[in-house]
Amino acid sequence: MSQTPTRADFDHYMVPNYAPQKAVPVRGEGSRLWDQAGREYIDFAGGIAVNGLGHCHPVLVEALTTQANTLWHLSNVFTNEPAMALARSLVERTFADKVYLCSSGGEANEAALKLARRWAHDHHGEHKHRIVSFSQSFHGRTFFTVSVGGQPKYSQGFGPVPGGIVHGQYNDLDSVRNLIDDDTCAVMVEPMQGEGGIIPGKPEFLKGLRDLCDAFDALLIFDEVQTGAGRTGSLYAYQQLGVTPDILTSAKSLGGGFPVGAMLTTDRVAPAMAIGTHGSTYGGNPLASAVALAAVEFIDTPAVLEGVKHRHDLFREHLEAINRRHGVFKEIRGMGLLIGAEMASAYEGRAKDILPLALEEGLMALIAGPNVLRMAPSLVIPDADIDEGMARLERAVARLVAGQ
Ligand SMILES: *Cc1c(COP(=O)(O)O)cnc(C)c1O
Repeated sequence: MSQTPTRADFDHYMVPNYAPQKAVPVRGEGSRLWDQAGREYIDFAGGIAVNGLGHCHPVLVEALTTQANTLWHLSNVFTNEPAMALARSLVERTFADKVYLCSSGGEANEAALKLARRWAHDHHGEHKHRIVSFSQSFHGRTFFTVSVGGQPKYSQGFGPVPGGIVHGQYNDLDSVRNLIDDDTCAVMVEPMQGEGGIIPGKPEFLKGLRDLCDAFDALLIFDEVQTGAGRTGSLYAYQQLGVTPDILTSAKSLGGGFPVGAMLTTDRVAPAMAIGTHGSTYGGNPLASAVALAAVEFIDTPAVLEGVKHRHDLFREHLEAINRRHGVFKEIRGMGLLIGAEMASAYEGRAKDILPLALEEGLMALIAGPNVLRMAPSLVIPDADIDEGMARLERAVARLVAGQ
């Protein structure tokens, strides 16, 4: 038997692109985790908005193990029942007519961007290739998606970036009016910016994007990788914003922890992705599809979605109470269970300092940029875990305030 790995093995054997925390979690159940030393944590991070049903949810374990004993992988030389069932389920629950399956959010966005370019190419010609996106946006780490994303630090230093991409200001429709024209093939936007700082899109802004896209025959792409799969209290955020995109991408909570992504679109657009235009070895993999199908069917129910709204209120009440006592936040915002607390000016840029303190108190949380504490817990986190997690967060905040 080989020796049990420790955190030091990360530095020895893995490329240094991450800086993981010291603790190494080994087991999870619901919204609790345990590390190698047996320390217990409450999970407000949810694997960065991925563990939508917490850890090892019995419904997902059942779907995974049943499929694991049936059929793992075929490639797209064959189709399979779980992939077709997942696609049908997503079509029946959304605006979409057609679905493309893949394994991550970045891949779903890569497919969306290639589809938009190809659709415009086929219908209008080579000139119509410009993509409008937004400063601070995040769309994944492939070279195309970091280029469309609005955080230059992720695309610099890798050589020439793909051309034809421009960035407007989020929630500023005039900035888009200045960029969009007949050469624009798509506008890509997160209905609420996640990595950019938990910034909800204003309904008038998102509706205005729809109108501009219609006026210039450009496609509206909603990146719902973080906001989707129940995160905001509806299966997808667009369903409560009154704006319907032409293409929507989903991943993260869609698989509840199993790698899966999906791109949804309409019969008007889908034919541009003709045979041979795009593909992925793992896209529509039976294991991933079976888990995602179980997740979608469990999440898209009144019990879970209304539960998200109830838990949102509980999170907000707790955060406001903590803020009344310690005055560390400027604003608490978000939708559903994607919540951000922006630091007050006295604590500017110090959201990340809360994380190690919170871990010491037994709580996992996230940041979204240097100034926003972010929470993206399980959609079914028990109220008691919220209460206990918030007590731990308050102890961490008190230590930050005390300068410890
Ligand atoms: C996380 C995220 C992505 C990237 O997803 P990966 O699975 O890491 O490739 C893309 N868009 C948004 C909005 C995200 O939050």
